[in-house]
Amino acid sequence: MSLFGDDELPPVTARESQLDFWNQVAFERVQAQFKSGSMHHALLLLGPGGIGRETFAQELAQWVLCQNHSQLDSACGSCKSCQLFVAETHPDYHLLAVEDEKTQISVNQVRVLIESMQESAHQSGWKLANISDVAALNQNSYNALLKTLEEPQPQTLLILQAEQLQQVPATIRSRSQLVALSVNEQATIEAWLAERKGGMTEELKLALSLFPQAPYKAEDFANNGDAVKCGDFILDISCLMQGNESPLALAEKWLPDIEDCCLWMLLMMRDLLLLQQANDKSCISLQGQTEALTNIVNILNNQRLMQLNEKIVELRSLLIKKSPVNLSSSWQALLIYCSQLAQKTAKSA
Ligand SMILES: [Zn+2]
Repeated sequence: MSLFGDDELPPVTARESQLDFWNQVAFERVQAQFKSGSMHHALLLLGPGGIGRETFAQELAQWVLCQNHSQLDSACGSCKSCQLFVAETHPDYHLLAVEDEKTQISVNQVRVLIESMQESAHQSGWKLANISDVAALNQNSYNALLKTLEEPQPQTLLILQAEQLQQVPATIRSRSQLVALSVNEQATIEAWLAERKGGMTEELKLALSLFPQAPYKAEDFANNGDAVKCGDFILDISCLMQGNESPLALAEKWLPDIEDCCLWMLLMMRDLLLLQQANDKSCISLQGQTEALTNIVNILNNQRLMQLNEKIVELRSLLIKKSPVNLSSSWQALLIYCSQLAQKTAKSA
C-alpha cells in the first residue's frame, strides 16, 4: 500500500443530497443523460430565484466531479474531489458570478474562465463551469463565451443559469440543452411550507399565490414582513386612483421596491379582474385588501383595467430583461398613467 493511501478503495456511500425534492426528477433526467454519454456540453438551467436552482447546479457539479459518481446518485462527499469541492478550492470547478459592487459579469472574468477550461483537468477528468446568471453577461462576455460553446473541449460541462428564457440570447439558447426547473405539485409545496412555518397562515397563502414556482421566495415573503408591505402598496394605489395621492410622490416612495411592486400590481390586477367578472370576494388572493380592491374596481371599468395591465406587463418585461432603460421614469410614467385612467373615468361618469 502506498504511503499516501492512493491504493485504498474509495468509499462508496453517498452523502445526503441538498437537492430540493421538487427538482429530483429533472436531476435524475440529467444524470441519466450523463451516464449514457448523451448529455450536452452546455446546460441552460432555467428556473426562478427561490426554486433551488443554485443548489441543483452545485449538486450536479459535485456529482460530475466526484470520483465515485459511476456508483452513486449523489456525490460521495469524502473523495479527494468532493473534499476540494466542499472547500471551494476544486481546480476543475469554476463558478462565475457577479463580483461585489458590480452589476455585470465582465468579459475579463469570462476570458479567465475560458483559459482555465482549456487547461487539462487536475482531478477526475471533468472540468466544469457554473455561470450563475446568464442575464448578467454583457455583449462582449457573450461573444467570448460563444466560441467555447461552439468548440467544446471533451469532458467539459458548462452550466448556464437564468431565471427566464427571454433573458438568454438566441445564440446561447441554440447551443445549449434546456433544463427547465418547475414546481409541479402545488399541494405538496403547500404542505412542505406549512410544516416549516408551523401551519398555513394568510401571509403564506398570499406568498404562494405570488410565487407558485419559487418555494423559498414564498417562504421569505411570508417571513420577512413583505406581506404587510404589499398591503400598504395596494392601499397607496387605491388612494392614488381616488385622487388622494400624488403619482410622483408614490413613485419616489416605492422606487426601491419597483420589482416587487410590479409583481404585486400584477397580482392586484388578477384580483381586480376576478372581482369585476365574478364579484366574488372569496376567490381573490389579496384577502386583506378587499376594501382597497373594491374601491379600484368601482373606479376602473374592464377596458381600463386591461389597458393598465398591459402597461404593468410592459414594465415588468423591461425589469426581467434587465433592460438599460431609465426605470425611474418608466415607473413614474406607470403611476401617472394609473392616476390619469382614474381621472378619465371620473370625468366620463
Ligand atoms: Zn466524491
